[in-house]
Amino acid sequence: MSTQERSVTPDSEVTVEPRGRNLLDNRLVSGLVRSRLYPRVIQWAVLAGFVLVGYQLLTGPQAPSKNLGTVLMWVIWWPLIPVAFLLLGRFWCAICPFATINDWVQRLVGLERPVPPFLKKYGIWLIDASFIAITWADHIWGVVASPWGSGVLVLLLTTAVVLSGALWQRRAFCRYLCFLGGVSGNYSQTSVVSLRANPDICKTCTSRAVCFNGSAAVPGCPLFSFPRTLESNAECNLCANCIKNCPNDAISISVRKPTQELWFMRKPKVEVAFLAMAIMGIVLIQNLSMLEAWPAMLDALGGVLRTDSYPVVFTVAFAMAIALPVGLLAAASRITAPRSTETMMRNFARFGYALIPLDIAAHMAHNLFHLLSEGKAVLYTAMPLIGQEMPTESPAILGPLAIQVLQFSLLALGVAASLYAVYRIARRRYPSPASHWPVATPFIVLVIGLGLLNTWMFTLPMMHRV
Ligand code: SF4
Ligand code: SF4
Repeated sequence: MSTQERSVTPDSEVTVEPRGRNLLDNRLVSGLVRSRLYPRVIQWAVLAGFVLVGYQLLTGPQAPSKNLGTVLMWVIWWPLIPVAFLLLGRFWCAICPFATINDWVQRLVGLERPVPPFLKKYGIWLIDASFIAITWADHIWGVVASPWGSGVLVLLLTTAVVLSGALWQRRAFCRYLCFLGGVSGNYSQTSVVSLRANPDICKTCTSRAVCFNGSAAVPGCPLFSFPRTLESNAECNLCANCIKNCPNDAISISVRKPTQELWFMRKPKVEVAFLAMAIMGIVLIQNLSMLEAWPAMLDALGGVLRTDSYPVVFTVAFAMAIALPVGLLAAASRITAPRSTETMMRNFARFGYALIPLDIAAHMAHNLFHLLSEGKAVLYTAMPLIGQEMPTESPAILGPLAIQVLQFSLLALGVAASLYAVYRIARRRYPSPASHWPVATPFIVLVIGLGLLNTWMFTLPMMHRV
């Protein structure tokens, strides 16, 4: 490992993220990612699946439990996608059908205009807002429970991608507008693989940033990232364009400890920390709305608000669920501010990243219920396509007790990883125990509190998605 990759403070705390084994040293992996067919072949396969899902959503049976598109999208893909982010970072974004459509439109009619500065500056806030809006719309109009509704959502997203691809350069939609890109950007920072360039080699490079700009044979970076300065998985989808273009073999794909990137974040962003908390609130409302006690809770809130309008009552409940984790992180940051050398907002941004592992765990625990209690529906709903009758037995893969054990195990892992991230972030910034524990303590209480809240909700009976 070069001296540039690692620098050491007086107390031997590593200040730059260390790199593990380079997967590109393996000839098979190196040959695979340098192949002209990577990631094209996977893109085509995923696009074929996307067309099938879209067709089923718009033309198939309108009962969600009988629609293959609904089951593939909400019972299989949505629950499994966080696992992909954890293992492979934003790789999904390299093979996502929306990205493929964007590239095709661009090649056919693209005006290739530069991305507006407004979008570059506030893109993540737009992503935060659109993710919240889509979840809200699902509860108001029943998007997930309606194959037609899900189909319309897919059509709307496709329209936005087509417009973005026609107007702007590269994959502006994926980097600055896609809500799934925002979620994948957050989660991918916990991933066990990362692509980075070797700054020692880049310093001597005379290629005029061919890794960023592209060459006649291979396009530049679709996410507008310059590998030499790349510090976060949130800005890389492992498309390997830069690996193919770099004439100096400066780029590596390394294996690292899960969540490690969070500990070494040099420029934490408030909007990323906000999204982490918004996701926590979204999981909260998703869990609450599946509880048997949910209608009674809405009635009680309606009584306080003196209205029985579902959109009004739900909107207030939804706003409260989002505000709770955001407010708790703000409170912990406020308590910490006088004990630290940073402002409340800076602490909000810095320590908000530490909550991402718990986010993933809560998100996965919630979706595990759908995957394991409804997973066989994918086979059942596919049967009519081959002329067979749809079975009527339970679509569950595992029983409720086994699912609960897995959910609690996931939450325990998430809490442990978030606690460790809080500790590492605090220790890196405040090396002595006398200074890092007082800073870390409010966030430790926050992680444990949110972990307990999620654990309690998974002890209660929930309803199915389809
Ligand atoms: S990654 Fe390669 S092409 Fe890009 S600056 Fe570094 S050495 Fe040059
Ligand atoms: S940094 Fe390299 S691998 Fe990552 S998105 Fe850009 S071109 Fe693709």
